[in-house]
Amino acid sequence: ESPSLDGPPVAEGFAPGARLGVLTAEPLGRVLDYRAPETGCRTGDFVEVPLGPRRVLGVVWGPGESDLDFARLRPVNRVLDAAPMRDEMRGFLERAADYTLTPLSAMLRLATRAPGLGDPPSMQKIYRRGPGTPDRMTPARTRVLDTLDAYGGLAFSLGELSAEAGVSTGVIKGLIPSAAVLEEDTPRDRPYPRLDPARPGVALADDQQQAAARLCAGVAAGGYGTTLLKGVTGSGKTEVYLEAVAECLRHGRQALVLLPEIALTAEFLARVEARFGARPAEWHSGVTMVERRRLWRMVGQGGAQLVVGARSALFLPFRDLGLIVVDEEHDSSYKQEEGVLYNARDMAVLRASLCSAQVVLASATPSLESWANAEAGKYARLDLTSRFGKAELPDMEALDMRAEDTAPGRWISPSLEQAVQDRLAAGRQSLLFLNRRGYAPVTVCRACGHMIACDQCDARMVEHRFLQRLVCHQCGETKPIPAACPSCKVEGKLAPVGPGVERLAEETQALFPEARVAVLSSDLFGSARALKAQIEAIASGQADIIIGTQLVAKGHNFPLLTLVGVIDADLGLQGSDLRAAERTFQLMRQVAGRAGRGAERGLALLQTFQPDHPVIRAILTGDEEGFWRAEAAERRAAGVPPYGRMAGIIISAPEAKPAFDLGTHLARNDAPLRRIGAQLYGPAPAPIARIRGRHRVRMLIKADKAAPLQSAIRAWLAPVKLPAQVRLAVDIDPQSF
Ligand code: ADP
Ligand code: ZN
Repeated sequence: ESPSLDGPPVAEGFAPGARLGVLTAEPLGRVLDYRAPETGCRTGDFVEVPLGPRRVLGVVWGPGESDLDFARLRPVNRVLDAAPMRDEMRGFLERAADYTLTPLSAMLRLATRAPGLGDPPSMQKIYRRGPGTPDRMTPARTRVLDTLDAYGGLAFSLGELSAEAGVSTGVIKGLIPSAAVLEEDTPRDRPYPRLDPARPGVALADDQQQAAARLCAGVAAGGYGTTLLKGVTGSGKTEVYLEAVAECLRHGRQALVLLPEIALTAEFLARVEARFGARPAEWHSGVTMVERRRLWRMVGQGGAQLVVGARSALFLPFRDLGLIVVDEEHDSSYKQEEGVLYNARDMAVLRASLCSAQVVLASATPSLESWANAEAGKYARLDLTSRFGKAELPDMEALDMRAEDTAPGRWISPSLEQAVQDRLAAGRQSLLFLNRRGYAPVTVCRACGHMIACDQCDARMVEHRFLQRLVCHQCGETKPIPAACPSCKVEGKLAPVGPGVERLAEETQALFPEARVAVLSSDLFGSARALKAQIEAIASGQADIIIGTQLVAKGHNFPLLTLVGVIDADLGLQGSDLRAAERTFQLMRQVAGRAGRGAERGLALLQTFQPDHPVIRAILTGDEEGFWRAEAAERRAAGVPPYGRMAGIIISAPEAKPAFDLGTHLARNDAPLRRIGAQLYGPAPAPIARIRGRHRVRMLIKADKAAPLQSAIRAWLAPVKLPAQVRLAVDIDPQSF
């Protein structure tokens, strides 16, 4: 068999009829053998193949390797019109699958999330906001215009816009004559506006200048390297890494900036536009399908120089990726906890090492992992030590709640109340921080003591007054707040216990009736747009007191804010999570950093019942290196990450018994683990023993840093036949252990 001499020559290709291996994104899919189509094909080609009665998307992975009878192989239906997947990308998916112990097909699924992949490039009608005003407004028309406004300049297809706005397509068409909505013909493959790296940036301060120069040198050298860029909030990390982005663009390579929170993108896009004269491409769950399709194609052709996105942007088919920035690298939302369990920070480093790119991990409070990697010399480290301009870090003080005369059922101590009062009098903003969504974490019956729990999960239902429902924070299930206790049927005895942000807002409004109170909690906003509007309103001074959850800790800039009150600094220290200290330290420092970003010095007050707790002390003194050294010593002594390796195994089933039985069986047959000296703990009920009706059993594996953990686990699990309904998930480097 020789390649056809008609048609274009196929480099490293497969002649028509050749045996080849195709990877599909089907669940539990492996590389399956097919025959090359009439046209021949190449490794990396996106193809459509028959699978049972269906036609599915696949990628030519290499020569076929099964011993299946050649005569029984089915031919590939067709080669799709999309740039072939690069070797580097295939290598990345293979390594990522090996590392996370997930099937390769599941990895491929992450890399092929673009809808309509392989459709021929064609013209398409898109709809965007126009300058006109319709002669007559209706609620449906308002919804269309609101939706378009919410997504800035983004375009929609007709179907998407009607679905998103909840109106018929006729309503949209009716807005075209007045030019309130513009209908345009656009090629699907439209490059993004050019970013101009030659435009001058801000004049950098000395330490910024030095840090930028180091990062730029790394980018210019063109190889792999990771740098931890540490600096307090407001020290100008973003300005510094934008210089590295500029250098990357000057070399004609692409850059990716990962952000932990969609709500942060708007501010960042504006900064990029100010710096480079155009907006970069966006990739996250709030981006329309039309844009995602376009981005997926453009990134492969080099028509998108800079992508700003959520963790899944790591799986885009960049043509030549030269720089990945992971902003707020310590953020736990980089860990994907469902489906493929991966940490985007670690995957960024893996991807960069395979495509000779630089990684910048930016944070005011790095993860212990990154700190230790820098200590060990695996990462470079750059520190920005002062805040840019006059702004200084806030003063930090503990409020000893044992000495405060706080009224029962109230959570704001007299001292904190006074501090807020002072800010109100001075026309300054205060932030009260409580990391608990909803009104009250527990609803208890005062007649019988029953606590309302989720039917599907081993978790209490949380009262949300704003939604007027009880909500399970595990599975999202909601139910109406009952009038009578579901257990003893007595009416009028259900009472909220403990504070959530909604209840705190109530208390605040009662204490300061004149103040404008704004609540920032992810569940209070129907859309990213509403949240953004609230953040902008706060930044422009339209609130006096901000009540916020974790959401406010992330990067927002409120210039008038000079006081941060932490309602319960002890909250994160409870429980047995070994990362509790690290998380609390990071969160408290981040929250405190919100105060005094303007010209005035800020103050952070931490309400605590244990002011002498070592973590609280470290937060107050700000002795970060000391905190990390102490934390590192403890982890080293315990042999846990980053000084040892861990993996979690979660077995789940509709009934507890089969899950436990499998766990027990695995524990009895752990020779492959013992061979590498690993220790196995469990099976035991998982920290949340039931979610969405499935019972969960957990096992933990601990091994030496150098031990080949993945291959041992693979050998250990290879003989397992999962009973019906039983699922098993491996979590390498679990967040909590
Ligand atoms: P970080 O990312 O560390 O929180 P930013 O880069 O957002 O810090 O900088 C904080 C603020 O200071 C921003 O408003 C930024 O524009 C401004 N800033 C930082 N460095 C400079 C500089 N060299 N010149 C002018 N403004 C700067
Ligand atoms: Zn639930």
